[in-house]
Amino acid sequence: MKLLVTGGAGFIGSAVVRHAIAAGHQVVNLDALTYAACLDNVASVADNPAYAFVQADIRDRAALDRVFAEHAPDAVMHLAAESHVDRSIDGPGAFIETNVTGTYTLLEAARAFWVGQGKPGAFRFHHISTDEVFGSLPTDPAVKFTEDTPYDPRSPYSASKAASDHLVRAWHETYGLPVVLTNCSNNYGPFHFPEKLIPVVILNALAGKPIPIYGAGENVRDWLYVEDHADALLTVVQRGQVGRSYNIGGENEARNIDLVRAICAILDTKKPKTGSYADQITFVTDRPGHDARYAIDPARIRAELGWRPSVTLEQGLEKTVDWYLANEVWWRALQSRAGVGERLGVKA
Ligand code: NAD
Repeated sequence: MKLLVTGGAGFIGSAVVRHAIAAGHQVVNLDALTYAACLDNVASVADNPAYAFVQADIRDRAALDRVFAEHAPDAVMHLAAESHVDRSIDGPGAFIETNVTGTYTLLEAARAFWVGQGKPGAFRFHHISTDEVFGSLPTDPAVKFTEDTPYDPRSPYSASKAASDHLVRAWHETYGLPVVLTNCSNNYGPFHFPEKLIPVVILNALAGKPIPIYGAGENVRDWLYVEDHADALLTVVQRGQVGRSYNIGGENEARNIDLVRAICAILDTKKPKTGSYADQITFVTDRPGHDARYAIDPARIRAELGWRPSVTLEQGLEKTVDWYLANEVWWRALQSRAGVGERLGVKA
């Protein structure tokens, strides 16, 4: 397939780009290169003739029209977004601009291209979203997010993603645009921007700094290794049913405190020091409106498309720690960008 991937210089988008090229697809990576982007994430495919990069903003309709006209993609995989919950609390405007207005502009450009093409079945708009649109779950492990869980977003980030999901469904219902949607749990793995929880834990531990945990560390997340997410997304864009959404999860629920302790234990083995890295754990004031628990029921994607994650949380965390230990040049360059790690009260 020829795939137009938006946000392909970010964390998950770059994994999608690398996987797609490895699987023999052609990729046009469209990215505005915001603070969260890093073209080094796709350096391994940059010289591949099947890969092209376009620096453009998804709010720029004229630029999008040019990209559709020049590249005529078989599918759009839409990952470009403002993605950091803490930043959405401090400055929600950019989240409305990119996640809502940007998605609307991309939908309109895609619709014009699709209509102009005159091949109704032969195009896909795959919208990549988050489980945070469903709100917060009780601690009962039997209760999980399904595709039918009502939307109940609680942060500016999740509200903006919920709005974009609704727009995508409306463009399907109203205009017939062939869409598929995915809502995924928390990702982690290589190339994760150093302001997110897992990289902050690893890098602060290595630097001998406090390892910050919000509140009492009781919040539960369902962690998915990013390479598994990329694999799931390529499965859905090719074989997902048009008009349908799929929840993607790692089947790896963990309380933040247990996750952080597990990372410290891996570091204790890989890079021993006097005492344990867990001694650096520091509890900081909780995030406002912090959702208690997210957990995905992945029954649909498993039953319909036969997809399931390939690694356990323990395996994925070990791979991730190894990657950060081996890629200091990458993370040091990104740590110096403005605002990274500030809200957690500990500059990484
Ligand atoms: P990221 O912040 O690492 O990357 C986002 C990319 O989008 C960056 O390269 C950035 O430059 C680009 N971008 C931002 N605004 C843009 C604009 N206006 N025009 C063009 N490009 C723009 O994000 P991520 O963690 O890789 O997340 C990717 C997608 O997956 C997002 O839509 C996010 O909501 C969704 N998602 C993320 C997670 C997670 O755990 N990270 C989980 C589920 C879903």
